[in-house]
Amino acid sequence: MTNGENSGILIYAQITRENYIHTVFFELVDKAKELSEKLGGVEVNAVIFTTPNLIDNYKEAFRNRGVNKVFYFEDEEFKTYSTDFYAKSIVDLVGVIKPEILLIGATNQGRDLAPRVASALHAGLTADCTGLDINEKGLLAATRPTFGGQLMATILSKANPQMATVRPNVFKVTRDDSYVDTEFVSCPVNISYLKKKVELLEFKKTVENVINELDSAEIIVAGGRGLKNKEGFELLQKFADKIGGTVAASRVAVEMGLAPVSIQVGQTGKTVSPKVYIACGISGAIQHTIGITDSKHIIAINNDPEAPIFEIADTGIVGDFFEIVPKYLEL
Ligand SMILES: Cc1cc2nc3c(=O)[nH]c(=O)nc-3n(C[C@H](O)[C@H](O)[C@H](O)COP(=O)(O)OP(=O)(O)OC[C@H]3O[C@@H](n4cnc5c(N)ncnc54)[C@H](O)[C@@H]3O)c2cc1C
Repeated sequence: MTNGENSGILIYAQITRENYIHTVFFELVDKAKELSEKLGGVEVNAVIFTTPNLIDNYKEAFRNRGVNKVFYFEDEEFKTYSTDFYAKSIVDLVGVIKPEILLIGATNQGRDLAPRVASALHAGLTADCTGLDINEKGLLAATRPTFGGQLMATILSKANPQMATVRPNVFKVTRDDSYVDTEFVSCPVNISYLKKKVELLEFKKTVENVINELDSAEIIVAGGRGLKNKEGFELLQKFADKIGGTVAASRVAVEMGLAPVSIQVGQTGKTVSPKVYIACGISGAIQHTIGITDSKHIIAINNDPEAPIFEIADTGIVGDFFEIVPKYLEL
């Protein structure tokens, strides 16, 4: 059984301000191909908004990615994102192509867009999922943390389409070689939607979003309450510099004013997947560890041998951060 007309899975492909397709889209495509197989090989399609001069570049970027059809809206206006236009256009497109599943990356833009689309479609939305599957009845089984991360809930929706958002870095891009002849379908732009209620006058980059490198970092060195103060985080930065790592923090460290929220890892922060994650003075609360389980190797430095972080760490160092790290820096 499926939820309706079985017309496949539609994924929103976000175009970044630097004019490339956001990586979360490709993560969702690979997951969608897996879901498609379980649904008997339904189409995996995409929707994008682009300026006319860039469509050829995107055509190239979509090739060999396993997407059956790319529905594109093309206009000079799409230099900048507009909640109103994008949401209304996606709702119209859904009305025509009737996907049974609609997936959107839980980026800042996706978190703005998805609820608007869901509300207009009376569809409901399972946000910030950490797992997607198809159950025995052919419905999307969307798993996400609940009760402050204490439980994982798998949510089914009987709406059409079944909608979910997934954060970047939760799924892997596997990039198999299966060739799919991607068809590009131009969608009519409804000019009346372009009358914006909100005008973007200027976009200012903050220092925080310029320096956030956690998405691609191979080594992450994260600090928690155990680092105690500013000096503790300065020591953490020296440690990170020595081993070529990027600094991250627990939520408590952020709340203590020791680190910006942009580098918070965990349920309400970033999901990361480095080769090595070094947790320093972090206890290992579920709300933190949920963001690091895809790390290849977890190292924990903690002075409490009973700290829960040691249950998931591949390497555990029981000791005082302020003794261990200075000694290492002297080597
Ligand atoms: C809805 C919700 C969402 C949340 N989202 C997040 C999130 O996204 N990310 C997140 O991190 N948390 C999140 N939290 C908070 C989470 O529950 C924990 O409170 C938090 O992760 C604890 O941070 P911590 O490990 O830095 O501090 P603590 O739990 O206080 O741990 C500090 C650790 O440092 C060790 N330590 C102390 N001194 C030293 C020393 N000198 N050397 C070595 N080790 C030392 C201690 O033994 C202890 O294990 C959330 C909570 C809720 C309810």
